[in-house]
Amino acid sequence: MKKIITIDGPSGAGKSTVAKEIAKRLGFEYLDTGALYRAVALYLRRKGFDEGISDEDLRVVLKDVQIVFNSGHVYLNGEDVSKEIRTPEIGHYSSVFSARPVVREFLLGLQRDFPKHHNTVAEGRDMGTVVFPEADCKFFLDASTEERAKRRYLQLRQMGKEITEEEALKDVIERDRRDSSRDIAPLKKADDAIYIDTTNIDLQQTIDLILKNIEQNCFK
Ligand code: C5P
Repeated sequence: MKKIITIDGPSGAGKSTVAKEIAKRLGFEYLDTGALYRAVALYLRRKGFDEGISDEDLRVVLKDVQIVFNSGHVYLNGEDVSKEIRTPEIGHYSSVFSARPVVREFLLGLQRDFPKHHNTVAEGRDMGTVVFPEADCKFFLDASTEERAKRRYLQLRQMGKEITEEEALKDVIERDRRDSSRDIAPLKKADDAIYIDTTNIDLQQTIDLILKNIEQNCFK
């Protein structure tokens, strides 16, 4: 097994940008596990399914799904869907479907296989707790709800998506509730993860803090 650094936290805490940059600086590969859940949600939505789908149907439908994550891109049955997955609708449904054990089981092997080939910075909700409990170094990024909603709003607007600040706040609150309260692999800081509140620090300061921590405490 190669080296693994995990970065978990709620939506809008800055995980993706930070994880990507840390991976680049260390020469590691970056694994965005939210993109995997989003790709599953995209597939299910394209087929017209919603939260009403039974476990049995989910199991059958997922047999036709192949997801690959490579160099920052996510492929759904060979199609690069990295852009299509970034809509508020798919964000909502990825959170809905990710609460289903069948979906989590389906993606577990794929996530665990990734660091067999590359030193990895893995980003998500349950990296340090469930997927890679033996990771070399774990971080939990957080920020106030208002700050995360503001970042989500600006990010989606930058991508040209129609969204108001109220909608962004509502989405963040709803996703926090769903991601933290689900029975399986809820969003939770691992006991041995380093907690970083990014409400009042910028991305560069967050990255520097994590790199300093890695240098001092990891891979000893
Ligand atoms: O991080 P991102 O917003 O792309 O994740 C989309 C959704 O996927 C999250 O709201 C969460 O419900 C789910 N997810 C998860 N476990 C992960 C990563 C994402 O449940 N490791």
